[in-house]
Amino acid sequence: MSKKNLLHYYPDGDILIIVEDTMFCLHRNIMALASKFFQDMFTCASASSDDNGSNLTGLTLEGESALTFENVLSHIYPNTYLPIDWKNVTEILRLADKYIMDSVVSAAKTFLEREFRKEPLCALYLADRYLFKDIYKEASKLVLETFPDYKIKSTFRELSIQTRNALTNRYLEYTDALGKLNKVDFTSGYLHCTECLNSINHNREINEKLVNKVRQIQVLPLPLPPISPSTTQKILFQSIGSTTCDNQFMIHQLSRKLQKHFGTFEPLECKKHKKEHKFYLFIELG
Ligand SMILES: [Zn+2]
Ligand SMILES: [Zn+2]
Repeated sequence: MSKKNLLHYYPDGDILIIVEDTMFCLHRNIMALASKFFQDMFTCASASSDDNGSNLTGLTLEGESALTFENVLSHIYPNTYLPIDWKNVTEILRLADKYIMDSVVSAAKTFLEREFRKEPLCALYLADRYLFKDIYKEASKLVLETFPDYKIKSTFRELSIQTRNALTNRYLEYTDALGKLNKVDFTSGYLHCTECLNSINHNREINEKLVNKVRQIQVLPLPLPPISPSTTQKILFQSIGSTTCDNQFMIHQLSRKLQKHFGTFEPLECKKHKKEHKFYLFIELG
């Protein structure tokens, strides 16, 4: 026995949609505007029949959830409002993707762009699944930052095998690079600036300072989780001195050496704050 949905059973509706035990009486034109799937279906149906859709024909969505369908309708219909949140975003995206509802997919994407910092692994999972390139990259920065914590979460096992492998490999590369940091010859190939009077002495000074930084980074013994990528980057790029040659070394030489050793560090993409102080490692989609 089907019951009428409390929010979306419109007496002037012209299409009856049944999901589980719930009847929704809806408007073909609204459903067609919101969903390419329904648009195509109504176009085909009206082409193959001559009743102009005046009959209230019923349509059953098999294997669908009445609550999710109601939520998506609340998003589509102008008389109801449903904010997207972490509790409903996964289901809303699933249904919106299945029935080709582009504006609902866009709304979910906007939610993820704004909120991925709160649930990076969940954002990465959805970005992976629905191919949101930018969110994928941004969320991966935060996941790699504390990867050992995320790796044991159940959502991690739901990521695609490609993404799981990419994260695991990127993190292994990072910890491997951490272990080999004391073998990097930071000053090799460095051309001191003309103001630098004694490049051999300056090389020695620079190396002493970097040896201290490396010691600070490598100090944690296993099985403690290794120091995070952004902390490593921060320690290495703390100023080593104030001479022109010190600055030139940091900007050109050290950046190049660390890029080669660790790969690229980037801040979170952030339009609000121009100055971000944390730099992260990341992976990218496809
Ligand atoms: Zn110098
Ligand atoms: Zn910011």
